[in-house]
Amino acid sequence: MRRRISPEGRINIGNDARGEPLAGKVSISGSVHGILISPYQLGDEARPDCKVTVWESGQRLVLPLQFRQKAGLIAGDTVDVLFREDGGILLVKATNICALCGEQTEDMLEMPNGRLVCPRCRRILCADEP
Ligand SMILES: [Zn+2]
Repeated sequence: MRRRISPEGRINIGNDARGEPLAGKVSISGSVHGILISPYQLGDEARPDCKVTVWESGQRLVLPLQFRQKAGLIAGDTVDVLFREDGGILLVKATNICALCGEQTEDMLEMPNGRLVCPRCRRILCADEP
């Protein structure tokens, strides 16, 4: 499944998708591969490489800026949500999708910074102002 990182750096993953292991406290860590949300383990507070937190309103989680930067993720990016056998969730930057709408289509235009833009968004952007 895919999710978008909100402008405030949050991710929204429903209770049903997360399941029991991630219902309460979680530990977030980041690497160049992505952001890992793991079930909380005793002592995680003391680890410098992770942050212990809880879901807001049961569904939303703030992804700390330091881990987003490590994973090369910015607000508005779309991530693939991968469910691990240990109950954790790995957020990996989705590839080959439109940087504006998050869709994956044929005939994507690659921008100088490597981001892709789909034909539909190009048409919207290039349409004459009313
Ligand atoms: Zn698009």
